Amino acid sequence: DEIRITRALLSVSDKAGLVELGRFLAGHGVALLSTGGSAKALAEAGLTVTEVAAHTGFPEIMDGRVKTLHPKIHGGILARRDLAEHRDAMAAHDIAPIDLVVINLYPFEATVAKGAGYEDCVENIDIGGPAMIRAAAKNHDFVAVVTDPADYEALMAEMKAKGGATSLGLRRRLAALAYARTASYDAAIARWMQGEQQDRFPRRFVLAGERQQMLRYGENPHQEAAFYATAEKRPGVATARQLQGKELSYNNLNDTDAAFELVAEFDQPAIAIIKHANPCGVAVGKDLAEIWERALACDPVSAFGGIVAVNRKLDAALAEKLTKLFLEVVIAPEIDEKAAALLGAKGNLRLLETGAMPDAAAAGLTLKLLSGGFLLQDRDNGRVTAGDLRTVTKRKPTARELEDLLFAFRVAKHVKSNAIVYARNGATVGIGAGQMSRVDSSRIAAWKAREMAEAAGEKESRAKGSVVASDAFFPFADGLLAAAEAGATAVIQPGGSMRDEDVIKAADEAGLAMVFTGMRHFRH
Ligand code: 5GP
Repeated sequence: DEIRITRALLSVSDKAGLVELGRFLAGHGVALLSTGGSAKALAEAGLTVTEVAAHTGFPEIMDGRVKTLHPKIHGGILARRDLAEHRDAMAAHDIAPIDLVVINLYPFEATVAKGAGYEDCVENIDIGGPAMIRAAAKNHDFVAVVTDPADYEALMAEMKAKGGATSLGLRRRLAALAYARTASYDAAIARWMQGEQQDRFPRRFVLAGERQQMLRYGENPHQEAAFYATAEKRPGVATARQLQGKELSYNNLNDTDAAFELVAEFDQPAIAIIKHANPCGVAVGKDLAEIWERALACDPVSAFGGIVAVNRKLDAALAEKLTKLFLEVVIAPEIDEKAAALLGAKGNLRLLETGAMPDAAAAGLTLKLLSGGFLLQDRDNGRVTAGDLRTVTKRKPTARELEDLLFAFRVAKHVKSNAIVYARNGATVGIGAGQMSRVDSSRIAAWKAREMAEAAGEKESRAKGSVVASDAFFPFADGLLAAAEAGATAVIQPGGSMRDEDVIKAADEAGLAMVFTGMRHFRH
């Protein structure tokens, strides 16, 4: 199973570690074959290297489009050393065996990411590289293939231990990595081309991810899990820098994503506290420390062990307040030095800095696996603004109600359906999430508003004088009447129910102002 390496072909775009590897291989008596740029780098380091063009007797042509696509290369990689017929063919056509292929591909993904033009992107589609990688991976019984500088170390370690040979185990692992690499490379090309053709739901959908980290476990301890990053560079959990704290868990990542996406909705400073992917307190305002007090007041009991997202630079005044509560994660675009020092006292707290906020209005896709398939859809980037609203009741909302209505509806978009959100003065005061009936969500939200007021020693339910948002239409007047009874004065909902007329009539009778958004925000 151990194959000693006699000849290696090195052809890399990313030249990191190339010279060290070349020197190591030469030290083990390995003959080096290489393409233009790679050969130059090796020769400059004083290594003896044969250019592929000299080896094949065929020059690099067409600006490098054809460099290694030659039977002397592919025959040397693909020949089965244990078959007489293959050995005879090698002898007949003067083909020398190649036992190691070290390749990393033209930087197609990076070229697209930097916004290069169409022609430039096309020119960065590597052809010979994937062909050699796939050939070497297929012939892993005899050939080792390395597609990433990160794997040079493992290769050298094994060659060192085995007198210049590799084991079948390593070659198989490298082969699997190699096919994953060419698959992800082609996936990136396909996604880019589909994007250029605005084919958002292509007949074949491919997506590639790079493992960022193994997680201790999944949603539950008996489930294994890992976190993968896609090519999308949206500021958030995948791009964040962790400044301190324990390792992020599966649920931490999921909840933190929900929290950060929620605060990204607001132009003004905002804070959200999340538990089980639902907000238990959200507020907007001017001063972060003051906003925190109102976000926390919504449901301080649930906030224990919560995840906090902020859409502004986290300052010391807020950090001071955050240290008073047990929290799992805090995420912000920026964290003030003093704030970081204060939060440093909470050693376990996971502190994440993203550098920027994501654009809530940006287009994108979400994907959900089902058994035997997956659902793909546009991310919900719908954002209702004042201009979209239609007042359907006799009474129009006041300016203050209007602000709270828009705020509540934005929050409701991030609450699991059925979602009912009571808000007052830029803060949620009662949230009903994830119930199978809308009336139940209404009742829970109203009950929370009453209960939390009582616990805080306030005389009146916080729903009094509030506004209420519903993520989807009220199918009957009952949910709406429950809100009016709780003390809400204005309602925001998509509208569009068969019984809209009844619901509007009930709202008028109760003296409510109601606006229709024309947009629904289910979230499951
Ligand atoms: P170098 O910098 O050594 O001139 O080129 C290295 C790059 O060329 C590697 O990324 C490798 O995958 C790619 N490559 C090698 N052979 C071929 C070929 O025949 N056609 C194309 N298009 N790319 C190749």
